Amino acid sequence: MAAAGTMPKVVLVVADGIGDRPIRTLNGKTPLEAARTPTLDRLATEGATGLLHVIAPGVPPGSDTGHLALFGYDPYGCYTGRGAFEALGAGLVLEPADVAFRGNFATVQQLKDKTFKVIDRRAGRSLPEAAALTALIDGLALPRAAKVKVIVRHTTEHRCVVVLRGPNLSARIGDTDPHGHGDIVLKSKPLEKAASARQTASLVDTLTQEFYRLLSATPINAKRRQAGLPEANMVLLRGAGGHPAIPSLEAIYGIRSACVAGGALYKGVARSAGMDIIDVPGATASYDTDVDAKALAAATALATHDYIFLHFKATDTAAHDKDPTRKVAMVEKLDHLLSVLMAQVNRDQVCVAVTGDHTTACDVGNHTGDPVPLLIVGPGVRSDPVVRFTERACAGGGLGHLRGRDLMPLLMNFLDRTPMFGA
Ligand code: ZN
Ligand code: ZN
Repeated sequence: MAAAGTMPKVVLVVADGIGDRPIRTLNGKTPLEAARTPTLDRLATEGATGLLHVIAPGVPPGSDTGHLALFGYDPYGCYTGRGAFEALGAGLVLEPADVAFRGNFATVQQLKDKTFKVIDRRAGRSLPEAAALTALIDGLALPRAAKVKVIVRHTTEHRCVVVLRGPNLSARIGDTDPHGHGDIVLKSKPLEKAASARQTASLVDTLTQEFYRLLSATPINAKRRQAGLPEANMVLLRGAGGHPAIPSLEAIYGIRSACVAGGALYKGVARSAGMDIIDVPGATASYDTDVDAKALAAATALATHDYIFLHFKATDTAAHDKDPTRKVAMVEKLDHLLSVLMAQVNRDQVCVAVTGDHTTACDVGNHTGDPVPLLIVGPGVRSDPVVRFTERACAGGGLGHLRGRDLMPLLMNFLDRTPMFGA
């Protein structure tokens, strides 16, 4: 091992949804291939590259399971549902028996049979009144379930988290979010036989009724109606999950780790791994995010931490929006982030890795199972002949094909933290 104080450190830059497929309007190139990326190309030239199958070959990862794998965990063994990670990312301290959901403020219409038809799953997406609407339903009293607390926190735009806290709850229940416009809001289904699952599903249905009763009556929605805006009169719930019980990175590798990210989900996965969350003003998880501020915050955190996870979201958003030109622009923004970061770090002591949590194909508008490029540059890293950070160039790299879970031991090896196997 290196002497104390000179121990190498790691910055892992994850560009969300960075991978893509050849796109006709980009002359058959991927956004990474079409973008001008002098910094990424230099790092690819100096470092080692490869392709990462984040969960397993051909499996489209979610952002949560993808990040768990990148942090070295077995997502099949420890995944507890998106809601728990969103709640942790919103700063909530979860108790072991809590059930957490990701929520969407949405627009619904009540039908004659008292069911609800979804008009807009995001209530227009930008929702300046979200904090006031959240205050209205946070702590609401559930009829006939006095011991169950309902905790609601707003995160970004139309997004919120909802946590149920009380006796005899189960996270093994289905969503109320039907995912399509024009669909009927679902009754939550118990996904196991236990009485607790039946009881929780029934509580969630009561919650749906209460959300509508409280939200449809508020003057905020009357004002939105008058302004011709979709009412935010429902919260659709999905991804029920309990507290993820995973050992921290410190317990596994003996490292102090920190997270620089804008979005609640990424902060939540990082918190579940025991990372300190560094809040950066201007880190919005949107197109306008301040990458200079994020890169500087990550570089500064190296003084106090061994491992920094730096998340960049906008590449994924552009691909969900099916906008390859914008994805190219966001790849170039990522390149700028790396130029700022590399100017700040001591190259003799810091290992920098760049990859994605999954491919988000612009043509599909969603995550796909194609592998993502990976590059690692730093002291002791053997370079390879690859000179660009793209899907096709990195396919010929010296790191070969790896699974997401292999990344952490690989990085810890450069930190002299992976123990020897054998004698
Ligand atoms: Zn993602
Ligand atoms: Zn995505």
